[in-house]
Amino acid sequence: MPSALSQPDPSLPATDAMPYPHLFQPLDLGFTTLRNRVLMGSMHTGLEDRRRDFPRLAAYFAERAAGGVGLIVTGGFSPNVAGWLQPFASRLSWPWETGKHRQVTRAVHDSGARICLQLLHAGRYAYHPLSVAPSRIKSPITPFTPRALSARGVERTIVAYVRAARLARDAGYDGVEIMGSEGYLINEFASARTNQRNDRWGGPLEHRMRFATEIVARVREACGPDFILIYRQSMAELVPEGSDWAQIVAQAQAVEAAGASILNTGIGWHESRVPTIATSVPRAVFATATAKMRAHVRLPLVASNRINMPDVAEGILASGAADLVSMARPLLADPEWANKARTGKAHSINTCIACNQACLDHIFQNRTASCLVNPRACAETELVYTPAATPRRIAVVGAGPAGLACATVAAERGHQVTLFEAADEIGGQFRLAMRIPGKEEFAETLRWFRHRLEDTGVQLRLASPADAAALAGFDEVVLATGVVPRQVAFPGSGHPRVVSYLDVLERRVVPGRRVAIIGAGGIGFDVAEYLVHDGPSPTLDPALWMREWGVDPEFASSGALVEPQPAPPARQVWLLQRSPGRLGTRLGKTTGWIHRATLRARQVQTLGGVEYLGVDDAGLHIRTEGETRVLAVDHVVVCAGQEPRRELFDLLTAAGISPHLIGGADVAAELDAKRAIDQGSRLAARL
Ligand code: FAD
Ligand code: NAP
Ligand code: SF4
Repeated sequence: MPSALSQPDPSLPATDAMPYPHLFQPLDLGFTTLRNRVLMGSMHTGLEDRRRDFPRLAAYFAERAAGGVGLIVTGGFSPNVAGWLQPFASRLSWPWETGKHRQVTRAVHDSGARICLQLLHAGRYAYHPLSVAPSRIKSPITPFTPRALSARGVERTIVAYVRAARLARDAGYDGVEIMGSEGYLINEFASARTNQRNDRWGGPLEHRMRFATEIVARVREACGPDFILIYRQSMAELVPEGSDWAQIVAQAQAVEAAGASILNTGIGWHESRVPTIATSVPRAVFATATAKMRAHVRLPLVASNRINMPDVAEGILASGAADLVSMARPLLADPEWANKARTGKAHSINTCIACNQACLDHIFQNRTASCLVNPRACAETELVYTPAATPRRIAVVGAGPAGLACATVAAERGHQVTLFEAADEIGGQFRLAMRIPGKEEFAETLRWFRHRLEDTGVQLRLASPADAAALAGFDEVVLATGVVPRQVAFPGSGHPRVVSYLDVLERRVVPGRRVAIIGAGGIGFDVAEYLVHDGPSPTLDPALWMREWGVDPEFASSGALVEPQPAPPARQVWLLQRSPGRLGTRLGKTTGWIHRATLRARQVQTLGGVEYLGVDDAGLHIRTEGETRVLAVDHVVVCAGQEPRRELFDLLTAAGISPHLIGGADVAAELDAKRAIDQGSRLAARL
């Protein structure tokens, strides 16, 4: 086994030509060499499940391999039916299933990258009635109670892993990643929380670890010494009764002894109530757990979670915390990530903002993954920006996400594009989004769009509200004028205490100590976060963030959990909606719970089924559950949705111009930046 890079190498100074020397140092594994330290981490895209999608999957990986990544790990493939994530999900069990994989491995190898297949048995996280686990204990996040595997069932499952690994080798993969992390089957065996067996697979830690070590040892034996065997293990389980540090170290050492070639350090279980990858998680906050493992194993270590820019990745490697960095979503956002970093063009990286909106949220809705900032992700064969047959003069009005996407893609295709923006900055509503504590990452998208405008030669006219006269003479006009906040109408809605979210986020009004928010959609929740926070954002202060969420900074305790210590709220806030029931049910599938938990921790009072009776000097009068009450608030902030901003549309059509409508100007209901960017890009691809 290779010796791990344990200290920063002073012989690797950053230069203009090579700004991230540690990131682009090859890694010699003894039998094969990775061209750099960038590992594309496993992420299910939804293209793995059906044979007919494999050409798309191959194109998706081929772009990332051509983009310079060193090693790719596929989404998870189950070794058998019980381990399916959901019915008929990805699996590798039979020789006739290898053919479709060869398209993938060939495409990746042609670009000089290596690729491993991830073997993932879902265990009790399986979303089907055939699920199995070490013990019959239901997970809190799936409706199915698993069957406890018999001793013969355990044996058969190990055999299935070995068979799948052999098939992966036959299909041209350079290795496999065995998923022993995040609360899936192998992790369930290792943890006393989910393993209550008293046979040779349960009880003391040595027995609980046996399932993992048997799989690793037998896969190594079956596939030979020249096969990459990555083992993925949670360094911090972030669940009550989770493994403590001594147990985690013992497991890592056991899989090293069993023959793993790389240890990929995962974080948390899917049922953890601590966020691990959302945008509000500080960048690289868990790399210290990986660093702590350094003293205990000689295997090359992979750091993961919220690593999205080369300076962060380089810092981790240069400090000796890890030997590789794993990124999955950042490579959806920008397939050229590695090449751009290597050639000193980090400023041109389209950064993953960790929103989960088009990737994980799609997967949880059984849709193919994509990316909010890069709608071409997983659509590489379908959304292609070919040079325009006839370059034309195009006016785009509005430099919010929709207009920015449309203008830059149209210009990239060779059109002559003028972008009019009424404000003196680009970004539209996205500029407000990045002011919310925990959404600081959103600024990266505007940095990227600024670069793209310059790079593609868009003529940007800031502080230029467009009118019909300015738009005459263009071949095509695209209206991306966005939205205006919806007005509410109840007695006193014109009272000076009633303000719009724009007044608050654009800092025209300083809200008082007691505030009611009308409307509990995405913006209502965000405004509540804005109002209850004071001082530095926990997202920018890892120690503060760990305290707030109750993560043991030493990663020593059981599950690495300690008592959370949320900061007191900066204001007393009520968040209200007219619809009955729980608030925030329409927030993102994978992130809504984080917003709800944050507001709970900051003591925000949430009320559904509210009738707004009026506002006067006493405050906001409401009726809930048949009772009237007054919320004695200083301000009422209206976050009641939006309407399209369309006045130009009517003027233009009257002047004989037929404009295209995109983003909020087209449809304001359920608008988000994902739809705005997607729609803008797709229109520009057709123009
Ligand atoms: P806008 O962003 O509204 O842009 C329209 C632009 O047109 C503006 O810059 C405006 O000045 C300009 N304009 C209007 N009229 C003219 C004219 N006549 N001439 C020139 N320029 C003109 N979305 C998400 O997906 N995820 C989130 O987490 C998220 N968080 C948010 C948080 C907050 C606080 C807010 C306010 C919004 C958030 N959004 C989020 C919503 C997202 O920002 C919007 O969906 C998106 O900005 C809509 O894009 P758009 O281009 O259609 O319109
Ligand atoms: P929204 O999600 O449509 O929510 C509007 C809220 O206002 C609802 O709670 C609605 O609930 C209430 N409302 C509607 N009409 C009202 C009226 N006439 N009087 C009083 N209340 C009224 O809109 P939004 O919060 O403005 O968000 C806009 C878009 O931005 C969203 O679609 C969202 O996708 C996007 N966004 C996303 C995120 C994210 O994290 N993904 C964050 C922010 C924004 P009741 O009708 O029950 O009162
Ligand atoms: Fe990153 Fe959001 Fe794109 Fe997912 S959708 S890859 S989280 S930017």
